[in-house]
Amino acid sequence: MPARARGTAGWGRRDNGGMDGTDGTNGMDGTPEDSGTPAGGRGAEAVLHHARALVLADLTARRAAGPEAVSLLEEAVSSRRWWLEQWADGAAFVPGLVAQDVQDALLEAYGRWPLCPLCEDPHALAVEPELGPDPHWVCEARGVAVAPVGSLGPGPEGPR
Ligand SMILES: [Zn+2]
Repeated sequence: MPARARGTAGWGRRDNGGMDGTDGTNGMDGTPEDSGTPAGGRGAEAVLHHARALVLADLTARRAAGPEAVSLLEEAVSSRRWWLEQWADGAAFVPGLVAQDVQDALLEAYGRWPLCPLCEDPHALAVEPELGPDPHWVCEARGVAVAPVGSLGPGPEGPR
């Protein structure tokens, strides 16, 4: 039987919902995911899957989930897989880290993302805490939390 059961309840399944053509295959290295990994492996995959779903939801909310952005997201998740193997206790930090990784990669390639919905001068929201659980998108200019990572609402579309 495939190891599909994700023990914990309450984690949404918003990934792939309404997305076209992003079924998790990235075509890069073919890392096996459901192949009976040793102890800990499945928990790590659930953490990474959750982080991926949150950031993908935010990309989608701002209409930024194009193929390029999604592949940047896949790369960020892959590199955090290694990080999480080294430090399993950091699981709660992974969503905030992946969000920042994607933000940084988008900035290099395309521009600032996600743009602040509160300020007239376009600037990117920041993730706070940078290394901690329960990350939020924050307007640093106003010192206001705009939304939790994964729940970014509609707003200025970008990257810009
Ligand atoms: Zn702002």
